[in-house]
Amino acid sequence: MIVYDADGKEYLIEETDLKGGESKLYTVEKHPELRAKIFKEEYRTRGREAKILEWENMIERNELNKSFCDQVVVPKKCLYLQKNNQKSSGFAGCLMDEQANFKNIKEIYTAKDLSYPEKVWIARNLCVLTNRIHELKREVIIGDYSNIIVFPANGTVKLIDVDTCQLVTIYRNKRVLCPCTVGVRELIAPEIAGRLKKEKTDLENVDQDADNPIFNKYTDFYAMAYHIFALLMNGSSPFASMANMEAISQHPSKNVSSIDIDQFHAAEKGEFVFVRHFLFKKAPEYAPKYKMLSQELRKLFERAFIGGAKDPTVRPDAMEFYNALTEYFQSLKKCECGHYMPSNYKGECEWCRINRAEG
Ligand SMILES: [Zn+2]
Repeated sequence: MIVYDADGKEYLIEETDLKGGESKLYTVEKHPELRAKIFKEEYRTRGREAKILEWENMIERNELNKSFCDQVVVPKKCLYLQKNNQKSSGFAGCLMDEQANFKNIKEIYTAKDLSYPEKVWIARNLCVLTNRIHELKREVIIGDYSNIIVFPANGTVKLIDVDTCQLVTIYRNKRVLCPCTVGVRELIAPEIAGRLKKEKTDLENVDQDADNPIFNKYTDFYAMAYHIFALLMNGSSPFASMANMEAISQHPSKNVSSIDIDQFHAAEKGEFVFVRHFLFKKAPEYAPKYKMLSQELRKLFERAFIGGAKDPTVRPDAMEFYNALTEYFQSLKKCECGHYMPSNYKGECEWCRINRAEG
């Protein structure tokens, strides 16, 4: 298949077996370092094109430095299906750098081949990435935090598919919202889920504008905190819980199936089972003990998941987490068993305990 950039330059592209919900990836002839992302027809919208052009503009105006581009896979060129004289038309997708040897951040949560300090380091890099995006002009918000990839070899964290990011463009002197229309349920802040439920709509159709967007920096802080928690807690969601059989057995009238362990309900109510006691519920056994985390980190998680459920503005920002994670990273010491634990933690090695429990 042949596509063109805005200047009419031609690219011969070939389909790969990599595809997402909205697009497919193609190799680019004579450019092994590039990939073309071609949207499915129904996603070739004016809004997506406007966003990609905005990123192209940011590159041209030198608003993105080298270290930014090391962490964010920025679309390089908009691609079109037709070439008409000097102009191209029929928006199809974009051109970007090829990425290899990475894993999605979700696979890192429980990866056995990475040490605990490496996971803490990755969490710290996620804070740097979040901060870089929020520092940009044009009010860029990540929105869909499932687009985070990690290079296990050096712990680099990158944001891909930035065409899903939310941003604001100026059109005829007016601020125009280019929304983020995708998201993964567990990474979506509870107030977003609440608004969608109340307005009986979804991310694609919700009524929003530049002054009242559905995603904002506080919803990004929620998803960031969720990833950090899962990285530090062996893949546990902050709202994962299990029925406390011991407590249930003491209440003969209580039925296991009536215990609400739905993590989305818990997130909306700020029921953070790691800190507060909820009758009949307890933290999952595969997660290390919460008190293993430093006091500073625990304070931040409580703001993110308890306070933040009522008032999203109290969620910690990227630099607060960055500082707490740096300190925690420095406190980790290798135990005799080969695992890493905070040096001031008094209890037994949590990783040995979890390994035993998993049998
Ligand atoms: Zn151990």
